[in-house]
Amino acid sequence: MTTSERYAQHVLPTYGRFPLVPVRGAGARLWDDAGKSYLDFCMGIAVCSLGHCHPRLVAAVREQAGELMHVSNLYQSPLQAELAEEINEHHVRLPGKIFFSNSGAEANDGLIKSARRFGLKRPQADGTQRYELITFLQSFHGRTLGAMSATGQAKIQEGFDPLLPGFRHLPFNDIAALEASIRPETAAILLEPIQGEGGVIVATPEFVRAVADICKKHDLLLFFDEVQAGFGRSGDAMAWRMIAPEVKPDGISWAKGMGGGVPIGAFWLSDRAVADDGTPLSSLLGPGSHGSTYGGNPLVCAASLAVLKEIREKELAVNAILQEVRIRETVRSWNLPVVTEVRGQGLLIGIALDPAHVPTPEGKTPALVLVNQLMERGLLVPPAGPNAFRLLPPLNVTDAEIDEALAIIHSVLSRLS
Ligand SMILES: *Cc1c(COP(=O)(O)O)cnc(C)c1O
Repeated sequence: MTTSERYAQHVLPTYGRFPLVPVRGAGARLWDDAGKSYLDFCMGIAVCSLGHCHPRLVAAVREQAGELMHVSNLYQSPLQAELAEEINEHHVRLPGKIFFSNSGAEANDGLIKSARRFGLKRPQADGTQRYELITFLQSFHGRTLGAMSATGQAKIQEGFDPLLPGFRHLPFNDIAALEASIRPETAAILLEPIQGEGGVIVATPEFVRAVADICKKHDLLLFFDEVQAGFGRSGDAMAWRMIAPEVKPDGISWAKGMGGGVPIGAFWLSDRAVADDGTPLSSLLGPGSHGSTYGGNPLVCAASLAVLKEIREKELAVNAILQEVRIRETVRSWNLPVVTEVRGQGLLIGIALDPAHVPTPEGKTPALVLVNQLMERGLLVPPAGPNAFRLLPPLNVTDAEIDEALAIIHSVLSRLS
């Protein structure tokens, strides 16, 4: 049986998978089961921040696997505590506390639960709990029932009614719409500083500042979903800092790049007081209120520590900015009519296409047509909505690798223009 046949027989068909079967990776390169090599600018969808099989990450995982993999959160893990300290002191740099999950959706579920606890602590004028979370159209927050209900895309929610109540999705970057729509039951606002899956749409500084002001004015929590953009990818440790550095969030969610390939996510809550008696927000989820069997076990924390220290010590966020500039300048110099826009920040880049220039067979989006053609030529990239593809190279990508990828992209795009 081939791998495809085994899939057809035994694996739920929830993904529209490409026929590619990767079996080995090193740095920015990936090899398939036929020995063909690819430049990988998908990186497991922004997960492998250090590239494939980075020696420091491999060593950390090997060592910890032979020492102690899992103990449950009944006990204390020095690695989990150390990782939380690393994140707080060097990446968030604001007083707060962290819960470790296994994915981005779970991290967002934690923020949703936090908003509800906050709405209980600070209820409506008549004493009833606040519970509503405002999110935005084209957002992506994950696939659990909670995170899916938060997600502002009908195609993600289709056929799964009834959704979790208590969510409203507003137009992104629209300050007037947001100002007009705060209700007595609203408790929090959740946004991606850079919408990734939705097409690489960066929140404007005016919008992020307005969201923060509206949160202050209406006593709402401000949450950033940094699952895709966080930990260096945007060109700073945190994407919101690239946009509006003076803003202080109440909660943040992460996953993807923080583990470099091991399944780990997390959410953070600020220590700021949310009651007159000084009760910190970060104390509202007390013992017994939330949990995860695997969450933050020694194996994944050892891996994440290696990844986050490497990103910090080697200043990989700076490399993300330098490479962004190279990409933007090169793509601009092509002057191709098929490229309508280069969006994003750092190494979360979206190249937007003019559909009129991309011949698309029935049922395929321009983005998918391009992704397939680039794959044939040896470059892996993920789509970003129907009319854009993303560039998500490792944060330590070299000039030569960027040039090689751009040459492939140019050869494909120039034939379309
Ligand atoms: C990928 C993603 C998620 C979901 O993360 P999972 O680990 O797949 O659950 C949530 N938010 C954003 C912004 C993402 O990009």
